[in-house]
Formats: sequence, structure tokens, C-alpha cells
Amino acid sequence: MSDPTPLDLQAILDDIYRDLTPRLGEGKVADYIPQLARVNPRRFGMAVVTVDGAVHMVGDAEVPFSIQSISKVFTLTLALGKHGENIWKRVGREPSGSAFNSIVQLEHEHGIPRNPFINAGAIAITDLVLAGHTPKEAIGEIVRFMRYLADEDDILIDNEVARSEAATGYRNFALANFMRSFGKLDHPVEHVLGVYFHQCALAMSCRQLAKAGLFLAASGKVPLSGHSVVSRQRARRINALMLTCGHYDGSGEFAYKVGLPGKSGVGGGILVAAPGKASVAVWSPGLNHNGNSLLGSLALEMLANRTGWSVFGA
Ligand code: GLU
Repeated sequence: MSDPTPLDLQAILDDIYRDLTPRLGEGKVADYIPQLARVNPRRFGMAVVTVDGAVHMVGDAEVPFSIQSISKVFTLTLALGKHGENIWKRVGREPSGSAFNSIVQLEHEHGIPRNPFINAGAIAITDLVLAGHTPKEAIGEIVRFMRYLADEDDILIDNEVARSEAATGYRNFALANFMRSFGKLDHPVEHVLGVYFHQCALAMSCRQLAKAGLFLAASGKVPLSGHSVVSRQRARRINALMLTCGHYDGSGEFAYKVGLPGKSGVGGGILVAAPGKASVAVWSPGLNHNGNSLLGSLALEMLANRTGWSVFGA
């Protein structure tokens, strides 16, 4: 049955922004490094890019922010491109049910992280992206990939954020050393984490991020150019991982309320794919108790309700 009424996405975004405006500032801004703690908690932006290329935005949708763990979707895509399904020897595909940086689980599972989106898993993926590269080349490859996907040349890494991550990343060093001790990292811990901290420090706006993620909503293709980023099957599988593992220990809740594959980051961003429809990015720095953007999650729930885009049915 086809829907005769086209969605007025701009009106939906305007309504969401209006309804959430009284709540701006809610949630707890990440404060483990000063660069994130300094962000104005009242920032809010949202961008929707449809598979036919239309862009709709509201609020601070063009202000770059630290994408943090959202980068893990793109390094996973790169690692799959380089190594194919072999990557699953190094990382699992199950939701973790524990904190994003848990070390206990890693010990139980002999250095094989549960999934590519918890920190240990993302570090293992970054190790695979490093294959055949110096850290500098790998960082360059990641930045080029983001620029290509977003079709924008001014996407940069915030080096101050990267340095600060490195200076305070004790737990990430612990996770990486642990994996290395199990023989599960091929490269020196400093190299792997050097790349990992830089990918987390990518600064992008909602508009850029939504454009970069569009291939996930468009069966693996950049719809306007027709270029294939990944196969249809691979796009579907990355979406499945985002749905089951993309929101730390709040992935079940996000699937329940929003019903779309998504990946969040501690910078307060969330990237979501509505397969066949659109790519959506939202940014609001205040986080909920699971470390996901509080108002960002709410905005996506409102969007899913209004559009009927949930993968579980309208
Ligand atoms: N750079 C952060 C870390 O590795 C990323 C955290 C996140 O966004 O989940 O601790």
C-alpha cells in the first residue's frame, strides 16, 4: 500500500525543535576531557538527508561537534572493505550488556570483544584498518573516507581532542594492552590507540554526518552519484549491528523507542539510518544514564513516530 501523503520533513523537524526547546540543557555533558566539558549544553541540531538527496535541517545542524564513537561505524566499514568477513575472527557480533569500556567481559572472552562498537571491539577494528599502513596513513585514510562520503573537503580532526583523549585514555590503554597480551592486536598499542583517538576526534556537523551515513540507508550506495560504498548485503548487516549494539548498554531501549539502526557517541551525537528512506544525524550534548544523547534520543523517537520509519513497522 503506498502512502499518498508525502511527509513534510521540514515541518516535522521544526515541530521537534519547538517541542524540545524548553528542555535544552538537560542531561549530563561528557566531562572526561575538558574539550567536551566546555561544549554549550544547550546546543541542538538535527539533519535529515533523504535517499533522493533532499536535505532538511534545524537548529545547530551545521555546527561541527566531536563525533566520538560514531566513527566506529565508518572504521568498521573500512575494515570490512579491507578484510571482508575475516574480521569476525577478531570481534563478535553480540550486544554486550555491559559498559562500553568493560574489561571484565574481555577477560572472560579471551580478548575477543563482544562487538565492533564497544571500545575494545572498536580498538580491534582500528588495528585491522592499520594493516599495511603507518598510523599517519591510516588516519589519512579515515579522514579521506569521511570527506568522500560526505562529499565535503573541510572535515577535520580536532587535534586538541585527540591529544586529550590520549592523555587520559587509561582504560583504553588497559583494554588494548589486554588484547595485545592475548595476541589479538597486530600492531603496537600506541599505534592502534593513536589512530583510535584521532578517529574519535573527528569534528563533523549533523549535515555532514547525515550525508556520510546515507549509504547505509541506500543499500550501500551513495544515491546521487550511484557509487557503491558497500554491497547491499553489507549495508544491511552493518545496520543490524547498529540496531543491536549501537547504543552501549541502552541499545534495547533505543530499538524499543526508535526502532532504527543507530550509533551514538559521548559527544552527544547520534547517526541513524532509516533504510530506503533517509539518513539522520542529531546532536545534543547532554547524555542520559547510558551515555546516549538524552534529547537526541527523544528527538529520534519523535521523528520515528511522525514518519513511521521504524524498521519494525509504521
Ligand atoms: N573516545 C571515547 C573513548 O574511547 C569514545 C567514547 C564514546 O563515544 O563512546 O573513551
